[in-house]
Amino acid sequence: MSQPVEKTHSTSRYDIIVVGAGLVGASFVALLAKWQADKNNAPLRIALIDAGNRPSPPSLEVNDPQFDPRVVALTHASQSVFASLGLWEKIQTQRACAYTNMHVWDHDGTANIQFSAEEIQQQSLGHIVENSILQCGLLDYLEEHSSVTVVRGIKVDSIEKESIIVDGTADSSASNKEENSSATTLLCDNGTRLSANLIVAADGGQSTIRRLANMDTREWDYHHKAIVATVQASQSHQFTAWQNFLPSGPLAFLPLDHPSEKYCSIVWSLESEQADEMMALNDDEFCHAVSRALQHRLGDAVSVSQRYCFPLHQRHAIHYVSDNVVLMGDAAHTIHPLAGQGVNLGLLDAQALAQEIIRGVERDLAVSEPSILRRYQRQRKANNVEVMLLMEGLKRLFGYKNIAVRWLRNLGLKKVNDFTLLKNWLAKQAIKYK
Ligand SMILES: Cc1cc2nc3c(=O)[nH]c(=O)nc-3n(C[C@H](O)[C@H](O)[C@H](O)COP(=O)(O)OP(=O)(O)OC[C@H]3O[C@@H](n4cnc5c(N)ncnc54)[C@H](O)[C@@H]3O)c2cc1C
Repeated sequence: MSQPVEKTHSTSRYDIIVVGAGLVGASFVALLAKWQADKNNAPLRIALIDAGNRPSPPSLEVNDPQFDPRVVALTHASQSVFASLGLWEKIQTQRACAYTNMHVWDHDGTANIQFSAEEIQQQSLGHIVENSILQCGLLDYLEEHSSVTVVRGIKVDSIEKESIIVDGTADSSASNKEENSSATTLLCDNGTRLSANLIVAADGGQSTIRRLANMDTREWDYHHKAIVATVQASQSHQFTAWQNFLPSGPLAFLPLDHPSEKYCSIVWSLESEQADEMMALNDDEFCHAVSRALQHRLGDAVSVSQRYCFPLHQRHAIHYVSDNVVLMGDAAHTIHPLAGQGVNLGLLDAQALAQEIIRGVERDLAVSEPSILRRYQRQRKANNVEVMLLMEGLKRLFGYKNIAVRWLRNLGLKKVNDFTLLKNWLAKQAIKYK
C-alpha cells in the first residue's frame, strides 16, 4: 500500500528498508509480505522506496500492439518465484511467450548450437515477458499487503549510522530483539528520514546505497552499447530465441506473445560508435540494417518501435554485505545482457535473502544478524560468479577474430551440438541457473 511518510525531521522506523522497487527489490518485499500474510502475523515492518513513478502496464491491444521494449527471458527458476506468489497465471493471461527453441550462431555460419525444450522433456526453455507486466503484477500484489509501506518519488541522498536503545516493552517487532543495535537512517531528497536495522540496496547498477556504504566493486566498461526495441518481422518467430554473434557484438531476437507470431524484442549490442550510428538511422534504414544483421532468418523487419540505447558495463561488488547494508540484483552484479540473465540472477538473490531472513526470524534472530547475511552472501556470490564467468566466456568465445581460435571453437560447438547428452545438460543448466 502506498502510504504517506512524514517529511519532517522525525524518523519513520522500520525493520527492513528496501531501496529500489525494480523487479528485484519488489520481488524480495513480495516474498516477505507473503510469508507474513501466510503466518497471519507481521513481525517485520518493511518499507519499499523508489525514486521513480509507478510503471504503467503496456497496452494489451492486439490490433495495434504496444510492447514494453524491456523484456526478461525468465528461466523456470524465476517463473517459480512468481508462481509462489500466485502471480504466474495472471502474467500468462496478460502476455508471456513460451519459447521452445534457441538458435545461437556465428555471423559467418561456421558455428552454431541449438537447444530445444523437447530434447530435455520440458514444455519450454523459458518465457519472454515484458518488464512492466511483471513489475505491475508485483506492485499490485504489494498494494494488497498492508504490512508493507511503499513510498515512491523519493530519492535517497545520504545515510547516517545511529545507535538505538530499544526499551523492550510494548513493541513486539523484530527490532526489539536488537537491543542497542545500530540502525541506519536514510535521508531523502525531500527531507524524509527513514531508519531500519537492515537496509537492502536493490537500487540498480549505479547503486547510491552501495556508494554511500563505501562498498567497492570490480568493474569494466565493455565500450559497447545495447539497443533495445520491438521489431515486427515478416515471418513467424517460431517461438525461438535467435542470437547471432556478429564481429561487432551479439544480436538477439526474442519472441513476443502476439497471435501473428511476428513481434520480437531485440537486444543488439554493438561497439559504442556503431550503436550511435544505428540509433541515428531512420526506422526504414534501421529495419534494413537489423534484418541484414540477423541474416534474414525471420525474413525482413517491417517495423520498429522507439529504440533505447544503454551503455554496457560488467560490475561485481567485492562484498554483498557491509554491517547492516546488503546488496542484491544489479546493485550487486551487472552482467552483459547477451543471455538475458540479469533479472534472473537478481530474482534468485531476492529469493535467497528472503529465505535466510525468514529462517532467522523464525529462530528469533534479528534481521541484521551477521550469520544470516553471511549465508546469503556465500550462497549468491558463488552462483553469480559462475554465471558471470560463463557469460564472459561465451562473449569472448564468439568474439575472437583469430582464425585458429575460431576453428577450435567451431569444432567444439559442433561436437557439443552433435553430442546430445552434453547439449541437454547445458540446456538444463540454462533454464535452471541455480
Ligand atoms: C539493454 C539491456 C537489456 C537487458 N535485457 C535483459 C533480459 O533480456 N533479461 C534479463 O534478465 N535482464 C536483462 N537486462 C538486465 C536487467 O535489466 C537488469 O538486470 C534488471 O533490471 C535489474 O533489476 P534491479 O531491480 O536490480 O534494478 P533496476 O531495474 O535498475 O531497479 C532499480 C530501482 O531503484 C530505483 N533507485 C535507484 N536509485 C535510487 C535512489 N537513490 N533512491 C530511491 N530509489 C532509487 C530506481 O528508480 C529503480 O526503480 C538487460 C539490461 C540491459 C542494459
